[in-house]
Amino acid sequence: MALIVHKYGGTSMGSTERIRNVAKRVAKWHRAGHQMVVVPSAMSGETNRLLALAKEVSPPKTTDALQRELDMLAATGEQASSALLAIALQAEGIEAISYAGWQVPIRTNSAYTKARIESIDDVKVRSDLAAGRVVIITGFQGVDEQGHITTLGRGGSDTSAVAVAAAMKAAECLIYTDVDGVYTTDPRVVPEARRLQTVSFEEMLEMASLGSKVLQIRSVEFAGKYRVPLRVLSSFTPWDIPIAQEAKSGTLITYEEDVQMEQAVVSGIAFNRDEAKISILSVPDKPGIAYNILGAVADANIEVDMIIQNISKDGKTDFSFTVHRNDYTRTVDLLKSKVMAALGTDHLEGDTKICKVSIVGIGMRSHVGIASKMFRALSEEGINIQMISTSEIKTSVVIDEKYMELAVRALHRAFDLDQPSA
Ligand code: ADP
Ligand code: ASP
Ligand code: MG
Repeated sequence: MALIVHKYGGTSMGSTERIRNVAKRVAKWHRAGHQMVVVPSAMSGETNRLLALAKEVSPPKTTDALQRELDMLAATGEQASSALLAIALQAEGIEAISYAGWQVPIRTNSAYTKARIESIDDVKVRSDLAAGRVVIITGFQGVDEQGHITTLGRGGSDTSAVAVAAAMKAAECLIYTDVDGVYTTDPRVVPEARRLQTVSFEEMLEMASLGSKVLQIRSVEFAGKYRVPLRVLSSFTPWDIPIAQEAKSGTLITYEEDVQMEQAVVSGIAFNRDEAKISILSVPDKPGIAYNILGAVADANIEVDMIIQNISKDGKTDFSFTVHRNDYTRTVDLLKSKVMAALGTDHLEGDTKICKVSIVGIGMRSHVGIASKMFRALSEEGINIQMISTSEIKTSVVIDEKYMELAVRALHRAFDLDQPSA
């Protein structure tokens, strides 16, 4: 008998039939004697639908007042799915109660639409569990100090579940989704992608931060900080498979630093289309230039990812960097109005049609030549690399967005990820 947290994503909660199925699965675990806390997402498409309604009634702008209302609105998706799951569990003859984030409460800061969890009060949840109830806690949301509802950013139910598991010292947090684990890359893009039986926490963190949307990055951060036993698995197996079998399925996130179970140098390939590139050409090559450009960008709270400064010719250089696509227009406006004139250039080029493709693997620490193998595979496909960045366990390149799938498939092959591991 253990305290277990289950999280069900949008597709898993996507219809009343699927919710009934989730209820049957949770009931099975409960009847086996486990204390169950369940964190559902909104039914698939619901968060998008709600946010689209907001767009219909208001032009996009980023006032705090608007962000607050967006959270008030989006949070209703999880409130509905949680109540439906409680009702479905009651229909199974199980005592179940659902709580919105503010009722638990899950306390967050006030950064609407991307709030961070600060603390979770588990008193109420524990007393329900002690009384034999299944407790359902809405994913994706919390409450700030003033009592305003907040949300945790898209995909945030993963983070709610891991945070609840950490706060309650759960024996395990199981993330049920529409794939049966973490794959070498997104199986929607590369059908030959393979499921990893285990993936190290560090690799998962890189993959999530580089675009693999299977887990929200903050959920992985939380899991690492509190060493939450975490597994990603399918909600589409028959609900009545034996628990012993179910509990071993999917992908386990491991924390042993030196054990590299799968023995591959590169474990996975991540990609995203979330960034845009900005280049300022012909800037004088003198001390303070990077600071003048990026200082202004940082002051506007815009995050910069990759940066390149070319060697100078005739005392002039080109300076390129990437920002999130959502920040692209704001960054260009800022540079044009506040920075360019002082730099003595009016030559700015922007490109929103780029993507970032990354190879990730803790084996890269102890092997040389991995990046060059990546560059060779891309050159063999005639793909031009615009920017490169590396860290101990990853290499990322920026390329033209139209080659993204080609690049991911070529790299998947080049690093033998299609092959079953030895
Ligand atoms: P949920 O609604 O359950 O949270 P998500 O859509 O957020 O599900 O995440 C699951 C999806 O993540 C999969 O359907 C898959 O297309 C995508 N994905 C991206 N990269 C990977 C990967 N490396 N392994 C598995 N799935 C991945
Ligand atoms: N419903 C939210 C979203 O669509 C949170 C989640 O599903 O994890 O982003
Ligand atoms: Mg998700």
